[in-house]
Amino acid sequence: MTYETIEVENHGAVRRILLAREAQRNAQSQQMLDELMAAFDEARVDNSVNVVIVGGKGAHFSAGHDLKQAQAERANFTVEERWAYEELRYFDYSLKIWDFPKPTIAQVQGACVAGGFMIANMCDLVIASDSAYFSDPVGHTLGAAATEVLIHPWVMGARKAKEMLFTGSKITAQEAKEIGMVNRVVADAELGDAALAMAQQIAKAPPFGLRLIKRSINRSLDAQGLRTALEAHFDTHQLSHLSEGFLTARDRGLANAIQKNPEKTA
Ligand code: ZN
Repeated sequence: MTYETIEVENHGAVRRILLAREAQRNAQSQQMLDELMAAFDEARVDNSVNVVIVGGKGAHFSAGHDLKQAQAERANFTVEERWAYEELRYFDYSLKIWDFPKPTIAQVQGACVAGGFMIANMCDLVIASDSAYFSDPVGHTLGAAATEVLIHPWVMGARKAKEMLFTGSKITAQEAKEIGMVNRVVADAELGDAALAMAQQIAKAPPFGLRLIKRSINRSLDAQGLRTALEAHFDTHQLSHLSEGFLTARDRGLANAIQKNPEKTA
C-alpha cells in the first residue's frame, strides 16, 4: 500500500512507521490517522513483522491533531457527529495501538503534544531524544478536558498528570524518564538507531511469548480499571466540547488559540 502522510520502513523483523508531514510538525490530519491505522493493520497480519516503531520525520514527533482541518471541517459538528468522529479516529484508533498484538516502541523527538502525546503513550515503550518534550495544553488553549484518551495518570502518575494538565506546561525528556513515562533518553542524532536496536533486541524472542507478556501486563492495568477509566473520560471529554470555554476558543479560531499561546503548545 502507498501512503501520502506516513512512511513505512522495513528493518528485518522490525517495521518503522514514520509520521511524514514535517512542514506541519506532523499534525495529525484525518488522512494521516487513517493511514497510520492502515499501516498498523498491515503490520498486524504480516508474519515477518515482530515489532513496530512509531516515529516522526523532521524535528518533531507530532504537534497534535491538525487544528486547521478541525476548524475548517468540524467546527460546527453536532454532538452526534463529533462523538462519531472522535470515537473512531481518536479513541478506537488509539486503543487499537494499545491492544496491538506485537510490541510497539515510540521514538520521540521535539514536540510530543496533545494528540501526539496520546499516540506515543499508546506504545509499549518510549525512547526520547534530548529535544523531546511532552505536553497536553488543551485545557488552557481550547477549554477541552485534556485529549480524548486520558492515558496521562497511567503513564506519569496522578500527581504529575494533574500538574501538567492544570498548568499546561511541558515535561522535558529527562523529567519524563525520571517519572517512568519514558524508558530511555538518547542524543537526537542517535534516536533512530537506539529505537531500532531496542526493537531488534525484542524481536529476537519468539513472538507468541511476547504477545502473551503484553496481553498479561495490559490485563493487569485493565484489572485496575484502565479501560473503564479511559472510556469514562472519553464521554467527559465530549462534554467539554460543548462548554463555553471551548466554544469561545472555536469562535476565535482553534488554530489561533494555539498560536496565541506559543509557550503552552507547539
Ligand atoms: Zn475532542
